[in-house]
Amino acid sequence: MILPIYAYGSKILKKKALPIGHDFPNLRELIDNMWETMYNANGVGLAAPQIGQAIRIFIVDTSQLDEEEETDEKGIKAVFVNAEKLEETGAPWMYEEGCLSIPKVRGDVSRQPSVRLKYLNEKFEECETTFDGVNARVIQHEYDHIEGKLFTEQLKPVKRRLVKRRLESIKKGLVDVEYPMRFR
Ligand code: ZN
Repeated sequence: MILPIYAYGSKILKKKALPIGHDFPNLRELIDNMWETMYNANGVGLAAPQIGQAIRIFIVDTSQLDEEEETDEKGIKAVFVNAEKLEETGAPWMYEEGCLSIPKVRGDVSRQPSVRLKYLNEKFEECETTFDGVNARVIQHEYDHIEGKLFTEQLKPVKRRLVKRRLESIKKGLVDVEYPMRFR
């Protein structure tokens, strides 16, 4: 089922999300719905707060980029439950980010190229993995969502001023978007 994506201005996007237990109800269905919602919106990542759930789950599919992007890493398709960031390493690099909750706003964000995470996969198996390049980038963006942070807060001040009006329009629902959204 395609779920509405909560737009910039929704309070839930600013909340730190909580870990879930093994007994979390209908987890399988929730994750299936997240995949369907993400693909419908042509996204490469989606975090649970974006569908109105303040829980520590996000999904990433960068394998969709394998044909278009010139990167060294192979794309990944994975579910991250209760992720905890262990370490970020390397010299920061700029990459243009966007967000399904903030349609038609893109901007360069500086992040380190490598991230090490501890998390559970969709079968609740414990994993500890280092991700690099674009994979790391998408994971860092989604991880920020479960911490209640948005990429627009990390834009350079000049760029932030430029997108301010657009952000205000999104808050009010004044944006044309091809997928279902929910405005506060
Ligand atoms: Zn996002």
